[in-house]
Amino acid sequence: MLEVKNLMVFYENAIAVNNISMTVTEGKITGVFGANSAGKSTLMRTISGIILDQKKKQEMKGGERITVLGSITFAGEDIIHMKPSDRARKGIILCPERRRIFAESSVMENLKIGGILATRSQAKKTLDYVFTVFPALKELKKREGGFLSGGEQQMLAIGRALMAQPKLLLLDEPLLGLSPLMEQMLVKAMHGINKQTGITTIIAEQYARPILPIVHYGYVLENGGAVVEGTSRELMKNPDVKSAYFGL
Ligand code: ATP
Repeated sequence: MLEVKNLMVFYENAIAVNNISMTVTEGKITGVFGANSAGKSTLMRTISGIILDQKKKQEMKGGERITVLGSITFAGEDIIHMKPSDRARKGIILCPERRRIFAESSVMENLKIGGILATRSQAKKTLDYVFTVFPALKELKKREGGFLSGGEQQMLAIGRALMAQPKLLLLDEPLLGLSPLMEQMLVKAMHGINKQTGITTIIAEQYARPILPIVHYGYVLENGGAVVEGTSRELMKNPDVKSAYFGL
């Protein structure tokens, strides 16, 4: 479904993604793990294409130069130069780090904004589905995004991404800053969404432990490079990975 080959991303002269190749299988959840600054967000922004907007903005300011090399093939087409809005139309949807919901808009408005590219009937159907997965959001329909708890904001961010009719859903650090109980609930929800809808998903997380059980295949990044990869069982068994990354 998605094939990343020899991907390199530089910020000015600093390398953030170093020769990463990865295969994302259709209908499955792929994990991307690694410490702070390992390159997870850069990878997610490069797959979604948001990095190209960032690059343009920087260039307009006359500042930092971002360089992206390699190939990203999605459904048989190399998309590495494709605008993020065109990628979104093809179904590549990023749910960004730190959620980025609209703080002054209500839950309902946030969800509707997510569904702007969807047809009326898709939007209606997906809205019902989002409220089934996250009943709490239904109760909070009129609440402003900024007044939600961290966990509720994350539910909203995922709900908003679902409204955009993703074929490939990119979740960047969905568990960041959440309580263990909320973590558990979200892991279950993400698993359920994948099982029920079959949406291909990539989850980037610093803490692999709660995510590993629902992942089909995972990559561990270090200094921008993929140092280990394997099925979740293989990753769990790898002693270096266990001690260094999973706190097991
Ligand atoms: P985090 O968990 O902190 O988000 P990450 O694994 O997502 O970490 P990235 O944010 O992709 O890592 O960062 C990878 C490297 O690129 C780091 O060394 C970081 O300092 C650098 N970097 C990220 N964004 C920029 C930027 N806009 N300009 C310059 N360097 C950047």
